[in-house]
Amino acid sequence: MTARILVVDDIAANVKLLEARLMAEYFQVLTASNGADALEICKKGLCDLVLLDVMMPQMDGFEVCRQLKEDPKTSFIPVVMVTALDLPEDRVKGLECGADDFLTKPVNDLTLITRVKSLVRLKSLTDELRLRAQTGKELELENLFKSSEKNSKILVVDERPSSYEKVVKVLAGQYSVSVVPDAQEALFKAAEEDFDTVIVSLSLSSYDPLRFCSHLRSLERTRLLPILAIADHEHEDRVIRALDLGVNDYIRRPIDPNELLARVRSQVKRKNYNTLLGESVQESIELSVRDGLTGLHNRRYLDSHLGEMLKSAKSLGKPMSLIICDIDRFKLVNDEHGHDVGDEVIREFSERIRKNIRTIDLACRYGGEEFVVAMPDTDMALALVVAERLRNEVAAHPFIVANGAKQLPITVSVGVSTFQDGDDTPKKLMKRADLALYQAKSNGRNQVVKEIAA
Ligand code: GH3
Ligand code: MG
Ligand code: MG
Repeated sequence: MTARILVVDDIAANVKLLEARLMAEYFQVLTASNGADALEICKKGLCDLVLLDVMMPQMDGFEVCRQLKEDPKTSFIPVVMVTALDLPEDRVKGLECGADDFLTKPVNDLTLITRVKSLVRLKSLTDELRLRAQTGKELELENLFKSSEKNSKILVVDERPSSYEKVVKVLAGQYSVSVVPDAQEALFKAAEEDFDTVIVSLSLSSYDPLRFCSHLRSLERTRLLPILAIADHEHEDRVIRALDLGVNDYIRRPIDPNELLARVRSQVKRKNYNTLLGESVQESIELSVRDGLTGLHNRRYLDSHLGEMLKSAKSLGKPMSLIICDIDRFKLVNDEHGHDVGDEVIREFSERIRKNIRTIDLACRYGGEEFVVAMPDTDMALALVVAERLRNEVAAHPFIVANGAKQLPITVSVGVSTFQDGDDTPKKLMKRADLALYQAKSNGRNQVVKEIAA
């Protein structure tokens, strides 16, 4: 995992120390000695995570963090506050400023690398999501992130009441928390229900906690479920094993409530991002570009591109035109020859469209047996030629279907519209072509009709 880490500290020796450790793990390291420089680097999009010293002259770490989290350009960059003293009030203040995590000086190597790796992974998920979100939809996406954090479900696997009661107390205000002291039962529950994070005590005695973690990682249903381990101080070796097994993060006893909240929040976010990413991948496959039956572009694609085509026609001062074609009496084809033959006709028709347009033209299947071709740099006269050629290509040659067993005479009706003035919109253009198509149908079908000029 290569990521760019920005280390911010006013004391050069501290910077050097962190830099060396991070570079040993093959991170790319950038450095800054004050808040203003740090903000500058972040705004330029040069880093994936910030390690931020709290105590700095002029602008302290809290202020830098607050500004980073306020600016939409930088709010997605994870911030780890590095404090000299481990004061609870510093943690509270850090959380209020939007910090994602804390480290205390002197910084423990394992802790440093674990936190950084965990947050860098999270960042790469959000980057991917942001990349996929279409411009202009980012706000919507951000709200989605926020809303999805509410009502998240946490599973706590811990045998000691004194320990889990504390965890429940901290989390109950924000999450729906289930405690299952028995690890085997917890495994079933985790596989059956949809939890957002599992918190597991590494001090379980009736079941090997490491085995529990490795089971969670190996089951399909829980493979991506974030795991946060709670470790006693003497269990450093178990922490290392747990992290090797794919546990996402850990927290030490005695549990600091704010630290617990911050860690759980990061893990819940991770789960939500993963879920959103999964859904948006499916969605983009389903909805993105092409129609399954014909391989032409689909309606959604046309809808998202027509505006751009129109805009560039306007700015270049060039014409552009649109044709809508609809197969005549197509219902009869289905009724008389079956739906599969109907599909064949649709496919063959799309082939004929493809052969009769230029590569810069955008052809799409707009609905069942209705197709749209958007043609840049094409005026009405030329559009009518294309439309007529297409109409003739269909009417002049019967469609050979059912493995050559049948020849069907097919005709289409076509409506044509052309971009008229600065006020024209994709919607108006479509509407005028549609009206022309309607006219072609009512005039008796198998013909091309142009829009009624405004
Ligand atoms: P018109 O000349 O007025 O356009 O008559 P039409 O029968 O073509 O028009 P209508 O819109 O009433 O019927 C279209 C038919 O197309 C109805 C629908 O079942 C069928 N259809 C829509 N999508 C598909 C498809 O993917 N495959 C097949 N085989 N038929 C489809
Ligand atoms: Mg039809
Ligand atoms: Mg129709």
